Amino acid sequence: MPRNSQPKFQSPKFESWGRYPKLEADLVPLSWTTDFPLTQPPATKILPVGAGRSYGDVCLLGHGTLLQARGLDRFQHFDPQTGILRCEAGVTLAEILDFAVPRGFFLPVTPGTKYVTVGGAIANDIHGKNHHIAGTFGCHVLRFELVRSDGARFECSPSENSDWFSATVGGMGLTGLIAWAEIRLRPIVSRRIQYKGTKFVGIDEFVAISKANTHSEYTVAWMDSVATGNNFARGIFMQGDHNPQPEPLTRSKEPWLTLPLDLPEFALNHLSIGLFNTLYYNKQFSKEKTALVDYEPFFYPLDSILHWNRMYGKSGLLQFQCVLPWEENQQFGIINMMKAITASGLASFLTVIKVFGDAPSPGMLSFPMPGITLALDFPIRAELSFDLVDRLARITQEHGGRMYPAKDARMTADRFQSFYPQWQEFARYVDPAFDSAFWQRVTARG
Ligand SMILES: Cc1cc2nc3c(=O)[nH]c(=O)nc-3n(C[C@H](O)[C@H](O)[C@H](O)COP(=O)(O)OP(=O)(O)OC[C@H]3O[C@@H](n4cnc5c(N)ncnc54)[C@H](O)[C@@H]3O)c2cc1C
Repeated sequence: MPRNSQPKFQSPKFESWGRYPKLEADLVPLSWTTDFPLTQPPATKILPVGAGRSYGDVCLLGHGTLLQARGLDRFQHFDPQTGILRCEAGVTLAEILDFAVPRGFFLPVTPGTKYVTVGGAIANDIHGKNHHIAGTFGCHVLRFELVRSDGARFECSPSENSDWFSATVGGMGLTGLIAWAEIRLRPIVSRRIQYKGTKFVGIDEFVAISKANTHSEYTVAWMDSVATGNNFARGIFMQGDHNPQPEPLTRSKEPWLTLPLDLPEFALNHLSIGLFNTLYYNKQFSKEKTALVDYEPFFYPLDSILHWNRMYGKSGLLQFQCVLPWEENQQFGIINMMKAITASGLASFLTVIKVFGDAPSPGMLSFPMPGITLALDFPIRAELSFDLVDRLARITQEHGGRMYPAKDARMTADRFQSFYPQWQEFARYVDPAFDSAFWQRVTARG
């Protein structure tokens, strides 16, 4: 029996993680995979949403109708021999970990937060610290059901309806509603990660350490966006592998810290971010440090504080993530970006840099490609932060790279279309009833 006889429209309150832009839409919570198509089609365009953990407007639709897929939260089948899990698309990665870790399984790919849904992970074809070994999330999706607004429902896999599979993985929710999905988990025998942190100074040293450590399953680096002179582009290269020594596989504890209110906007400024970066860099005294650490702080350091985005104040934050192709001189692109940031007087609180591998992404519009990826965030300080992000976008374009839609609120139509020349082919798969604020902007119809 359905929980609700008919999904109800609710008052407009849905924010993306960056809290910018602020757009109002009608909300329709879905509880069952058969709740869509709606029996009374709305007069406005539609967009499915997951947990709203995208930073910009890929999960927003002003004056539209958001289908809240989070209520599709059931596990349907699990095979402990193969690790194949079938679940509805609103199940979060946190719920999968709670279920799978005690049974000796882990996610094949995970982003920096576990509070995203399976539907959102597929629709942005997300990547993790193991991209150089495992590719994207979509590489581990065996099949899913796609529901179109005309009532058509079909199963998609790399071999069945493969064009719809490729359009929907990384398709930003525009091809229809993903109702359920089947993914392959990977076995583990311990919760813990064998961690090694190595300090570096400069992009060249980061690249050299990355190249020497491609055997490690997980690699990523934190970088100081404020330091200049001899400390320019200093950071800590972090690598990890699942501990091969069997240990009790317990469930994670619930986070107990939450940021209860928005901090004032001046709280995060060049000075406070600079201080934080210096403390963070110096928390490790020696050049190298090894430890056995729980997977939670290794993969999800920010998840222990719920609503940490309130730290940026009511105006929110702008994220920027790009990848520059792996060429002789691509380090210059990253150096130019870091110089542009220091010259702007703004600072990124969390700067993350990683080498992507060459595993092909299954999605037509997937973001990752071989090269260096750089992710930054800036408190919104009106034109100052917009100008800086636009400048970083220009540098990305000059170096043959591209930006990540899941972390974007500013990409121009020209840039999107040059970053993703397949967009016109993709547009043929967009459901006629679907739209998003991002799609309106990057196809220049808004
Ligand atoms: C702290 C933090 C760290 C992050 N780290 C990473 C990282 O390391 N790597 C990375 O790749 N990303 C990262 N992200 C971004 C995040 O993983 C993605 O934006 C993810 O897609 C969000 O999932 P969601 O469930 O919140 O979906 P939403 O943000 O709600 O939606 C994302 C997209 O999925 C579509 N969608 C959602 N559900 C469905 C459905 N059932 N059917 C069809 N379409 C659907 C929406 O239309 C939208 O286009 C991070 C985000 C945060 C906040």
